[in-house]
Amino acid sequence: MTKMTTQDFMKREEQYGAHNYHPLPVVLDKGKGVYVWDVEGKQYYDFLSSYSALNQGHCHPELVKAMSKQAEKLALTSRAFYNSVLGEFEEYITGYFGYDKVLPMNTGVEADETAIKLCRKWAYKQKGITENQAKIIVCENNFHGRTITVVSMSTDPDARKDYGPYTPGFKTIPYNDTEALERELEDPNVAGFLLEPIQGEAGVIVPDDGYLRKAYDLCKKHNVLFIADEVQTGMGRTGKILACDHEEVRPDILILGKAISGGMYPVSAVLADDNIMLTIQPGEHGSTFGGNPIAAKVAMAALEVVKKENLAENAEKMGKIFREELKKIQSDMITKIRGKGLLNAVVIKPKNGKTAWDVCVSMKENGVLAKPTHGDIIRFAPPLIITEKQLNEAMDKIRETLSEFN
Ligand SMILES: *Cc1c(COP(=O)(O)O)cnc(C)c1O
Repeated sequence: MTKMTTQDFMKREEQYGAHNYHPLPVVLDKGKGVYVWDVEGKQYYDFLSSYSALNQGHCHPELVKAMSKQAEKLALTSRAFYNSVLGEFEEYITGYFGYDKVLPMNTGVEADETAIKLCRKWAYKQKGITENQAKIIVCENNFHGRTITVVSMSTDPDARKDYGPYTPGFKTIPYNDTEALERELEDPNVAGFLLEPIQGEAGVIVPDDGYLRKAYDLCKKHNVLFIADEVQTGMGRTGKILACDHEEVRPDILILGKAISGGMYPVSAVLADDNIMLTIQPGEHGSTFGGNPIAAKVAMAALEVVKKENLAENAEKMGKIFREELKKIQSDMITKIRGKGLLNAVVIKPKNGKTAWDVCVSMKENGVLAKPTHGDIIRFAPPLIITEKQLNEAMDKIRETLSEFN
C-alpha cells in the first residue's frame, strides 16, 4: 500500500464531499494542546482553534477522560427518559452562569434557533404581543449560523443568496448603534434584541466601550429581551468568562456553544430564568441528542478546565502581549489590528496581487495556521492555554511571514 500524500487527501475530499468550504491546503491528522500535525508529520500552531471551539486546546486530557468514560457507560437515552447525568450538568451550568434554567442543544445555530423560539414564546405568553406579530432586532453583519431562519437574519450575500423565501419577523439595524436601537424599540411588537458582544465572523468587530450596557438598559426600559450570542466570545475567549462580563451585563437569554465542550463534542446551550424558560412546555421544542450523557459529562469537564486553568485571565494577559507585538511588525500590508483577549484580527491590504489568503498560505508554510475571512481579514485566536513562550515563538513565525512580503 502506497502512502497517501497531502494532495491525495485533498483530492478525495474534493471528489466526494460537497464544495461548501474552501480549506487552506493542509491536511491535519493529530492535535495536542496548541499544536496540530499534518499527515506528513509537520507541526503547526493552531491560531484558529476551530473558530474558538478549542479554548481548552486540542484533546485536553480531562475532556478525553470524561468523554471516553461516559462513552463506555451510556451514550444516549433521548429525552423520552431521564438519565443519571443530565441533571448534574443542568445544576452545574446554571450555577456556573447564574441562571434558573438551561436548555441543552448540540450546535451553535440550534441554540440560536432555540433562543429565537424562546423569545417569541415569551412575547406571546408574557409580554402580550398579538400572535405572529413579534419582532426581533438583529445587527448588520451578524453571524448566528446557517439554518434558513438564521440566514434570514443575515446581511451577508454569500450566506443568504438563493436560499429564499426567508423567515419574516426580524429587523436589522447597524451594529454598535444605540440610537438606531432606540428608534426600533419604539415599536411595541419588538420582543428581543439579538447580538454578538463582539462580531467574530464579521472580522472581530469590537463595539465601543459602553455599547453593551447602553443597549441592555434600553432593552430593559422597553421590556425587550437582551439576547447575547456568546457562542464564539464565551468561555474566556475575550478575557472574561463571557464577553458581556466586561460591562457587567447579564443577558436575559444567553447562547453558548463551541468551547463549552472544548471542541470534543457538539454541545450548545441556552440559559434563561424561569419567567422566560418555562414559557416552553413539554412537546414544544427538543432534540434527540440535546443533553445526552456524553455531552453533559464533556461540557462539565470543559467548563471546569476554563476555571481551574484560569483561561480567561490568561486570554486577557496573552491578548495584550499579542496585540502589542503585532503593532511592532513593520509591514505595509497590515492596516488595522483589533481584538479583545485572544480574539484578534488584522486587516490586510493586498500588495502586488498578494492577499490575506496568500499570507495565510505562507504562514502555514512557516508553521502557524489561521484562516482569512471576508477576503482581507486574518483572525488570530489560539487556544487559551497558550503560554508566553509559545506565543512568542508563534509571533516569530508570523513576523517572518509578513517580512517575506516586504
Ligand atoms: C459559530 C457560531 C455560531 C454557529 O455555531 P455552529 O455550531 O456552527 O452552528 C453561532 N453564533 C456565533 C456567534 C458563532 O460564532
